[in-house]
Amino acid sequence: MIETTTAPHVMVYRNFIAGEWRDSHGGLFEVYSPANRELLYRAQRSTVEDVRAAIAAARDAFETAEWRDDPNTRTAALLKFSEAVRARHEDLATQLTRESGKPFPISRGEALRLAETTSYFAGLARWIFGRSQVPQPGSLSIIMREPVGVVGIIVPWNAPLALLARALAPALAAGNAVIVKPASYTAGSTVELGKIIEGIPEFPKGIVNIVTGPGDPVGAELAKHEDVDMIAFTGDTSTGREIMRLAAGNLKKVSLELGGKSPTIVFADANFDRAIRGAINAASFYNAGQICIAGTRVLVEESIHDAFVARVAELVPKMKVGPGWEKGVEVGPVISEAQLRKVTGYIEEGKKEARLLVGGHRLTDGELAKGFFLAPTVFDEMPPDARIAQEEIFGPVMGIITFRDLDEAIRIANNTRYGLVAAAWTRDINKAMRIATRVRAGSVWINTFGKMFQSTEMGGFKQSGLGRQYGLEGLFEYTELKHVNIQMEK
Ligand code: NDP
Repeated sequence: MIETTTAPHVMVYRNFIAGEWRDSHGGLFEVYSPANRELLYRAQRSTVEDVRAAIAAARDAFETAEWRDDPNTRTAALLKFSEAVRARHEDLATQLTRESGKPFPISRGEALRLAETTSYFAGLARWIFGRSQVPQPGSLSIIMREPVGVVGIIVPWNAPLALLARALAPALAAGNAVIVKPASYTAGSTVELGKIIEGIPEFPKGIVNIVTGPGDPVGAELAKHEDVDMIAFTGDTSTGREIMRLAAGNLKKVSLELGGKSPTIVFADANFDRAIRGAINAASFYNAGQICIAGTRVLVEESIHDAFVARVAELVPKMKVGPGWEKGVEVGPVISEAQLRKVTGYIEEGKKEARLLVGGHRLTDGELAKGFFLAPTVFDEMPPDARIAQEEIFGPVMGIITFRDLDEAIRIANNTRYGLVAAAWTRDINKAMRIATRVRAGSVWINTFGKMFQSTEMGGFKQSGLGRQYGLEGLFEYTELKHVNIQMEK
């Protein structure tokens, strides 16, 4: 996946295990910019032995430190972490843009989201409550929450800081010890966080460990190891399935946030301008379409189809494509050559299945030739059963489907194995409520898209995942419930 050269004078990231910076037993791998293929840094190609050392460190910290019993220290640690991330957010965003190619303002937003999510869960660390009852005379039952134990967190490359935050922050707030396995393409921005954690004395050594290296063996070992109590994974549905299989060995808890093929439904009565901009925003061109919630299936009511398509054909080609560090860039490269090939394959197939409206090709003018840039692409007349309408492309590709009435819109919206999010634009409250209640997705937005708050749960129906992120449910994912019963003497 990641090439190897011997270029000197390049930053080397080490693993962060038991509060120490350690070399791995497997040498290094190299990470290149997807925008110009410049060598950015090297990181540890960890082995099973390294992962086991991190698991042992996490277990030891969980069993011996007061962390699990001391919510005040956890709040203090997470608040300091949040403040430090905020103070360093420009540096983190620069790193993120270099390694992912995404526009700098998007990276900045992501770094700030990490800070915000951490401060939200810092507050909740002191708010982990259970309940009590008297189930029979003289008998008191306490239903209490305890941390799960050692949690492995496996993160993808498309939004590495934001997606790490919503697992790391609640896992720590609930009193767990964690091992983070970043995606190899974006390992650096995550390992940078180890430097922040190292400087905060409230984090006991070994409570947070970061181990880089290939999905298999590093992620796979976390998923199967007997001493890991829970895995929180975000990434592709097929990898999620493999994680579940590996986790079955010791029946560990699993939280999965997987793929999507989300519908955005535009009714004829919608505010046309807002709906157009909303649908384009939902397609997530700003992240080259590499967003799990991306609204890649745009369902448009028949009577406004022609006007909608004409406006999309006018707006999308104006988007500026380039390296994310350039001012005004709205669409960066896709993450890798493999991703470029994968997305191009879908585009070529789409040309046979649907009508290409805009884009549909790689961009190689001037400096763009050095990177993995694709023109933002829109297909019209996309058959709902076509492969490009069913599979997660994870590139800057959106498809338009026409519908005649509400029932057909709901049928098409639900015609997918995924169920992550959905959106509808309409001024009719009845249509809005029918969509909200009948579309099978973990989040439904009406006249807006992508509103994710730290306090509101999100997660997938169907093959989009298991469990919830954010909010109280997102915190409780990282706890076990215990029943304590006390018999009172007469
Ligand atoms: P993966 O789902 O494979 O990667 C996500 C994370 O899982 C990475 O940290 C990866 O490590 C790790 N991983 C990979 N294989 C295993 C394994 N066997 N056991 C444990 N952990 C593992 O995504 P890819 O990066 O391989 O991308 C493949 C496709 O998945 C993309 O083309 C895209 O379409 C889709 N995708 C979807 C995402 C979503 O949020 N819906 C997110 C990312 C990708 P490493 O980086 O070292 O491989």
